[in-house]
Amino acid sequence: MNPIYFDLDFGITCIDTEHMRKDFVAAYLIEDNGRAAFVDTGCYLSVPTLLATLDAKNIKPENVDYILLTHIHLDHAGGAGELIKHLPNATVYVHEYGANHLIDPSKLRAGVISVYGELFFKQFLGDLIPIPENKVVIAKDGDVITLGNRTLKFINTPGHARHHVCIWDEKSKGLFSGDTLGVSYREFDTDQGELIFPPTTPVQFDPEVWKNTIQKLMALQPKYAYLTHFNRIEFTSQSANMLIQHIDGFVKIANTLKNRPNRHKAIKESLLNYLLDIATKHGVILDEAQQVKLFKGDLEICAQGLGVWLDRN
Ligand SMILES: [Zn+2]
Repeated sequence: MNPIYFDLDFGITCIDTEHMRKDFVAAYLIEDNGRAAFVDTGCYLSVPTLLATLDAKNIKPENVDYILLTHIHLDHAGGAGELIKHLPNATVYVHEYGANHLIDPSKLRAGVISVYGELFFKQFLGDLIPIPENKVVIAKDGDVITLGNRTLKFINTPGHARHHVCIWDEKSKGLFSGDTLGVSYREFDTDQGELIFPPTTPVQFDPEVWKNTIQKLMALQPKYAYLTHFNRIEFTSQSANMLIQHIDGFVKIANTLKNRPNRHKAIKESLLNYLLDIATKHGVILDEAQQVKLFKGDLEICAQGLGVWLDRN
């Protein structure tokens, strides 16, 4: 197997897990002084790619100390249980609200199947393997771990999900941001920079909490965000403002359509128009059919998450 990966600097590699399509779901590998860590894993089906990347980079599985999970959505953490079987010295770090779901994934599995369906689960997510309890460590806000000669710090980052942490890499002044600093596909890069929007995934989207989290992260003055979706971007105060603006934009759509019959469909259509509009203003020249294809997966999930949020309020 030939894994697709991108060597960034500071010993960081962005691995394309090839979940659903290329350039969609990343996992990261950090190497420092002979030791290594994964940040996020993609889903169960991504594990062969992660192992092939280790092999391609001549890193022994026993030199991997950590699997660091930003949160337990399956495109980020679904592969952890399978991956750790191959990494004899690794422990998994996860937010306290996620830990039990990794040790006993039955509820997580049922939740995912209720959102995506059994067929999707089997075909695109594969499986979910329990992680032995003694391999799971709770990542508390402010905790610092050492990897080789560098330190990595966990920061609680609720808003996209309550079980979300970001990982601050002092060496590169970068945040492994999971979904907290948004989604940004390289296909939408223009001379205006990156187009960033919020994945308002079910079931814990909370816009006000999320916006506070973004402000808190910006106090670190990050240079980079290592996005799961997709790859590293420079993350500036303009990036943060764009993300916050579109969180508000998505919420406005939800509130405007909350009493509509066929609410889900109406929200989805309105989100698509919103995204096409911001892409046009951003100078994106891809034709509309290509854009629709790239936005498609997010639209369904974002509309569902906004619906769950409306029902909760
Ligand atoms: Zn997520």
